[in-house]
Amino acid sequence: MKPSLLSWGRYPYNPQHSHACYWRDELPPLLGSVSSKYETTLPYGNGRSYGDSCLAASDHVINMRSIDRFIHVDWVRGIVIVEAGITLSEVLATAIPNGWFLSVTPGTQFATVGGAIANDVHGKNHHSKGTFGNHLLSFGLERSNEEFLTCSPNINPEMYAATIGGLGLTGLIHFAEIQLIPINTSHIDTHVVRFGNLTEFFALSSELDHQHEYSVAWIDCLASGSQVGRGVYIVGDHARYGELVLNDNAPLSIPFTPPLSLINNYSLRILNELYWRAHPTKLKQQRSGYESFFYPLDRILNWNRVYGPRGFQQYQCVIPDASAEMAMKELLKAIAKSGQGSFLAVLKRCGDIKSPGLLSFPLSGTSLALDFPQRSNLKELFSHLDQIVRQSGGRLYPAKDAHMSGKDFRQAYPEWERLESMRDPSLISRFWQRVTE
Ligand SMILES: Cc1cc2nc3c(=O)[nH]c(=O)nc-3n(C[C@H](O)[C@H](O)[C@H](O)COP(=O)(O)OP(=O)(O)OC[C@H]3O[C@@H](n4cnc5c(N)ncnc54)[C@H](O)[C@@H]3O)c2cc1C
Repeated sequence: MKPSLLSWGRYPYNPQHSHACYWRDELPPLLGSVSSKYETTLPYGNGRSYGDSCLAASDHVINMRSIDRFIHVDWVRGIVIVEAGITLSEVLATAIPNGWFLSVTPGTQFATVGGAIANDVHGKNHHSKGTFGNHLLSFGLERSNEEFLTCSPNINPEMYAATIGGLGLTGLIHFAEIQLIPINTSHIDTHVVRFGNLTEFFALSSELDHQHEYSVAWIDCLASGSQVGRGVYIVGDHARYGELVLNDNAPLSIPFTPPLSLINNYSLRILNELYWRAHPTKLKQQRSGYESFFYPLDRILNWNRVYGPRGFQQYQCVIPDASAEMAMKELLKAIAKSGQGSFLAVLKRCGDIKSPGLLSFPLSGTSLALDFPQRSNLKELFSHLDQIVRQSGGRLYPAKDAHMSGKDFRQAYPEWERLESMRDPSLISRFWQRVTE
């Protein structure tokens, strides 16, 4: 069969052969046979990572998506044990009617639980709840030496820490036991306001973040001069009164890949201006369904196709508090000057809750994420942005990355050698090969 699985950015273009399994007891023989035939392999969740961290160096992945069942639920304590290929959306479909929600969710509900652990994902409540790993009670791990490990903060604690944010390199996660949070309704009460520049963003964040569970900002990456970093600030909390309902809007779809990227400097400038002006100058309260608040992009299936056949790269960095404002200004000035970027540009203050994961990405500071259509001149812009991130003590997010240098990675993630010492020798990704060799 032709290889067909890609990463979300469709760059680098390295289609993967999928080796599927349906039952947990098929995993040990499958891991043994794929790794002995192709030397190495890698678990693959649902391909929502943007760059090459979900692509196997051998281009043969173990597709975990069909290992997707509930094993045990406790609706009194809000603890579920699920197989690792289940998506966050499938967990929510059962948890919400019972009055529970994910403690931490990224901006897509189509990530699997295994993928959420392996990248130790974070969401709009990093400042109040930390990362996915902060709510992971235990999990089961299959290693290629036919060893099966149960891991928790007290059982095999080193492997527990290495696997959270461990990029799928320590073994195949079979199942996970996760702590949910109680909710009264599935709605979110939000407050929205637009801001005129980066200084106003930091002032709003200091004023509002500690009062709300969730916070995030959209920014106009092309705004320049005194308007650098202008955008829209959004905070939210689970509503106290209302119903517990699943959103059932049928998703839209982009049926084919256009021959060229639909995102260019002209379309972007107009979109950004209209979007910014559409938002109020004073805090306005609104009520929103959980899907439109947490997962606006999931409404359009295959939205990654708008970038055309060459795909796109996401640039996501986090800058420590001490240098965040200055570095963000430099980054945004450089991006605006280049005239490149995307409508989807997100600024978020991260908090100081420490993750148990060795290679977890967030740190106490500010994170910036935006997409760029793949073009030959991207290299030059990224090398300039990398320099700003390096000098300000920040780092890039492996889940989104397709370009970071090995030197930058090793400097920003000094624990990488500990992960390497615990890596399962039969598992390696294109990302890991690129940044460690
Ligand atoms: C629209 C969108 C919004 C996003 N927003 C955010 C966000 O807000 N915050 C954030 O942190 N991330 C975000 N992401 C990134 C995404 O949440 C992560 O990349 C996530 O890890 C993808 O999960 P996946 O199941 O698709 O895994 P994949 O992308 O397939 O794989 C990711 C990693 O997990 C490993 N893996 C997968 N399954 C297993 C398993 N069973 N056992 C061991 N290892 C495994 C893989 O080897 C790989 O290293 C977003 C992505 C999209 C597309």
